[in-house]
Amino acid sequence: MLYEYTISTPRADFYNITAQVRESVGKSGIIDGIAVAYCPHTTAGITINENADPDVVRDLLFALDKAFPDRDEFRHAEGNSAAHMKASAVGSSAMVIIDGGKLLLGTWQGVYFCEFDPPRNRKFYVKLL
Ligand code: ZN
Repeated sequence: MLYEYTISTPRADFYNITAQVRESVGKSGIIDGIAVAYCPHTTAGITINENADPDVVRDLLFALDKAFPDRDEFRHAEGNSAAHMKASAVGSSAMVIIDGGKLLLGTWQGVYFCEFDPPRNRKFYVKLL
């Protein structure tokens, strides 16, 4: 089963989409399987990280800005090469095991849609196997 979601991303941030992934699993009725959250964009990504302390997400954004600063040497005419690099570093999907009808996430884990080139109206998919 495939579920499509839309998300408005007014700023560069990590948007928690765990509820949508969980909702997809509930709708599907799948008890044992795999959930893949996938982002069909080149300047956004999907990752799993801490959902408890919001400073972790802030620090991740800070570190990605430091690792991939805008550079005069970049050639990409759209001017958002740093966002493309962050998207590749984070990756475009995350996979979670479904066990007993539930996502097998750790207590402190959440699934995040990562926006690096705001503002946008984005979409992501949840595929269940
Ligand atoms: Zn671009």
